[in-house]
Amino acid sequence: MSCAPIELKKKSEEFYVKWRTYVGACGFDEFVEFAVSLSSFSAFLHSKGLSGLHQISHGLEQQVLSLFDDESSHHIPPGTLGDLSSRIEGLQARVANFIDSNSTPATEQRRASSEPVLPAESSFVHHMWLLGSTPEPWRDLITQLRYFGIHTHVFDWATLPTDTTEPAIVLIDGGDLALEETCHNARALRARFSATDLIVHNLRSDFNNLKVALAAGCDFCFAHGTPDAVVMAKIIEVCSRDEDPPYRVLVVEDSWTASKSIRRTLEQSGIESFAVTKPSEVLLGLRHFQPDLILMDMYMPDCTGVEATRVIRQHAEFLSTPVVYLSGDSDVALQVDALRLGGDHFLTKPFNPVILNAVVKSKIERYRTLRRSMQHDSLTGMLNHLTSKERLQTAVKAAEAGNETLTVAMIDIDHFKSVNDSYGHPVGDQVIRSLAWLLKQRLRKTDLVGRYGGEEFIVILPNSRAEQGLEVLDRIRRDFAEIRYPFRETWFNTTFSAGLSQFPISVNVETLIKDADDALFEAKRLGRNQLIWRH
Ligand code: GH3
Ligand code: MG
Ligand code: MG
Ligand code: MG
Repeated sequence: MSCAPIELKKKSEEFYVKWRTYVGACGFDEFVEFAVSLSSFSAFLHSKGLSGLHQISHGLEQQVLSLFDDESSHHIPPGTLGDLSSRIEGLQARVANFIDSNSTPATEQRRASSEPVLPAESSFVHHMWLLGSTPEPWRDLITQLRYFGIHTHVFDWATLPTDTTEPAIVLIDGGDLALEETCHNARALRARFSATDLIVHNLRSDFNNLKVALAAGCDFCFAHGTPDAVVMAKIIEVCSRDEDPPYRVLVVEDSWTASKSIRRTLEQSGIESFAVTKPSEVLLGLRHFQPDLILMDMYMPDCTGVEATRVIRQHAEFLSTPVVYLSGDSDVALQVDALRLGGDHFLTKPFNPVILNAVVKSKIERYRTLRRSMQHDSLTGMLNHLTSKERLQTAVKAAEAGNETLTVAMIDIDHFKSVNDSYGHPVGDQVIRSLAWLLKQRLRKTDLVGRYGGEEFIVILPNSRAEQGLEVLDRIRRDFAEIRYPFRETWFNTTFSAGLSQFPISVNVETLIKDADDALFEAKRLGRNQLIWRH
């Protein structure tokens, strides 16, 4: 878990205060505030990977939304209120329990950006439980995971320890017991663990089995016969999950009062915002604030929201930024027209805060998913070639502005053609993925890893000197060479070579890449499995 107990405590108290305020007043406004804060708390739990707590808060959220009448008829029957109250107390108790058992600083985190380039060995270890009667079929998977700092402890259901801290993942062998029994056990684990991801493997893959397992509180299911590589990719994704930065919204609204009320609603949901009052300032606002979404007033002096959106859409970099209109007018023809001309959604004023936040969040999630798939390579999840170069450009500018050094490394797997030739292309793909994961896992959050070509990666280490880069990458080089890839009854291993360059010795993006490439070429020439920096 990457959530400090203090932060969780604060968030849960904020939410609980809203609930107590509502219970005291029973008014519609207090109910809306409570609903917004529940949805915000739920999103917080999700973003922190607190899977068990999130499942409870999400269930609560759905019950609360079903109680949303309009202002004049708002009333929650005493029985329902009592039920809601006990569910909320239950959630609070689970949160308190979790905080108690996690009050020592978590060690299972990726390194924060402020930490030195070389992390302590213990800082990237994750623990996984494997629940099944026989570990034999899992042997290769367990060995592979260990290379990426994921340590597996195998238990059968009868010997589960009761007094340990939560593992990052519990992987359940769904082929071991009947489905009902597996689900019964999963529910018991869900009630016990708040942050653990529950993954079931070896399920028979029909619709009903998946539905039942998910309803029992499992986070993810794999069908019988799913290749180890796919299961492994999921496990590594869970263990290296980065927290999303807060959502950002640009509010374009000529009335200060309206703008303030919108921003307050967004803020309650943890969404950051920036406001412009003149449509002519919108491009400046976009460039300066880099929002994930624009909330656009429909009627402003000199310009309508639709006209402003058309101007925005003339700029390639803002072509896909979602635009949600806010208008006092519920004219259907106007709404259709607004959507046709580059808008994504239409909300009428006065807005319902719960709906506004839900629309904004879902649009941003989609936008971010789309952007992520455009910027990342599908095999490894690392930045793709084009995005790596753009990020390098940005990093060089930042280094220049801050008077800092920056190190670049070009990494290429040795004799990779013969890996493909001897073991086949899919095995080669797995080797490429392994290198990507190892780099990602070992480097800092602020370092960038891109897939530059087939089996070639670029690594960007901001605020680092080449000596530091050499040290950290050389450790990765040694560990990469240790990875044993199972093949039939035997195994093989591979190595990589790398060339480094440093800004400002290499003065710009082009020279950084060329110098790193030249150094890589030399590393290959000198026999491979080594790193070179020439200066
Ligand atoms: P060297 O040590 O000199 O780098 O030798 P090498 O065999 O690795 O040579 P090179 O880097 O030129 O070869 C890259 C090979 O990687 C060629 C290509 O078939 C293979 N390759 C490129 N992309 C992929 C991919 O996505 N998957 C797999 N499996 N192979 C790939
Ligand atoms: Mg207006
Ligand atoms: Mg190669
Ligand atoms: Mg190559």
